[in-house]
Amino acid sequence: MSVSTRPLTDQELTAIRGEFPILTRTVREDRPLVYLDSGATSHKPRAVLDAERGFYEQHNAAVHRGAHQLAEEATDDFEAARETVAGFIGAATDEVVFTKNATEALNLVAYAFSNAAPTDADKDEQFVLRPGDEILVTEMEHHANLVPWQELARRTGATLRWVPLGADGALDLERLGDLLTERTKVFAFTHVSNVLATINPVTELAAAAHAVGALVVVDACQSVPHLAVDVRTLGADFIAFSGHKMYGPMGVGVLWGRSELLDVMPPFLTGGSMIELVTMERATWAPVPAKFEAGVPNAAQAVGLAAAIRWIEGIGIDRIHEHEASLVAHLMTALAKRPWVRVVGPQAGVDRGGAVAFLVEGVHAHDVGQVLDDAGVAVRVGHHCAWPLHRSLGVAATTRVSLGVYNTVADLDVLLEALDRVPVIFGTEPEISSVAASDHGQAEAS
Ligand code: PLP
Repeated sequence: MSVSTRPLTDQELTAIRGEFPILTRTVREDRPLVYLDSGATSHKPRAVLDAERGFYEQHNAAVHRGAHQLAEEATDDFEAARETVAGFIGAATDEVVFTKNATEALNLVAYAFSNAAPTDADKDEQFVLRPGDEILVTEMEHHANLVPWQELARRTGATLRWVPLGADGALDLERLGDLLTERTKVFAFTHVSNVLATINPVTELAAAAHAVGALVVVDACQSVPHLAVDVRTLGADFIAFSGHKMYGPMGVGVLWGRSELLDVMPPFLTGGSMIELVTMERATWAPVPAKFEAGVPNAAQAVGLAAAIRWIEGIGIDRIHEHEASLVAHLMTALAKRPWVRVVGPQAGVDRGGAVAFLVEGVHAHDVGQVLDDAGVAVRVGHHCAWPLHRSLGVAATTRVSLGVYNTVADLDVLLEALDRVPVIFGTEPEISSVAASDHGQAEAS
């Protein structure tokens, strides 16, 4: 992984953009596409498209089955992809489990907890949840890292608690002491908020969770594509991320877990390929990671993800982070000059992820999105799968700009020009009223 933070030159940016066929297309009456929705999904460079197609054209076979040459090659490609992913996040190869996406990876861990039935003789107590036990999440979670834990609480009788949102888009960490106790069995939180772009202090939070014996699950969906993540120093026990947000294909995600935990964790999906021995009465499990990869896996997509990682490494993840950070700074400065725009989350000067979500005075986010779309600018509007977070902010919806390495200052200029038409079209006042004070009260659900 590169540690260079030499800014991307204009020539490099042009070359990078040239690798994304979709960026040359037009939308809405022949306007050039300005894609500012990479937080939802990034585009895919030719290297990724070629790798996926190459797998199907040359090696297509069900991996880990069959003794023929194609099966061997497909298996080798799939396992090489695992090695590439592991290298990218500083993991051991067999700690990388391929899933469909981050949502499945998070569900895998949540289901593992409830599959560790209290009556099971082989159970590992770390994964057994009973009434009286607690699951801790935060108020800024994407639904993918909230609903599986709500459901786990419902299945097991454990209690769900959450760290409320504090000031300036950060978590209210003063509450952590009350919320993280010896009853907490798992603390699940996002590394980078997909709305606020807040970067949470994972190492500090993980240390606090470990001090009370809780396991730590980190949603790394919005961090792994944008900043260097090394599981050896991060402090988490599990991390989850999606390939499609990091220039890779849709249909592949990753769960990383500490091998000593994966070894004792019950499986989520069962069936072919994940067994060691099967009789008519019962089955035993294959070693990790196969134990968590039931059925024919998404080998072509894993191969595409490995190509995406090699492509990222060719630029350097630190340079990607710096490039996106400079665009965020440019956008924050420009938005600060528009008093009718209010950015949610950390304000200028605070390190944040590659997204900026905002409100426009007196205009619903869906209407803002419509004006931008008419100008060829693709952003996301709504609650961005973080409904409780928006409720806590006292707003129904925001407009979110989210960046990828292929974005440029010129993209932001087109965005800003279109944005400036919004108050004109809607005849709104040029000053934004303050966001309704949120009641950051703590509630509980079991
Ligand atoms: N977590 C965060 C922070 C996200 O931004 C997303 C997607 O937007 C997810 C989880 C879910 O990712 P996927 O839909 O790829 O499973």
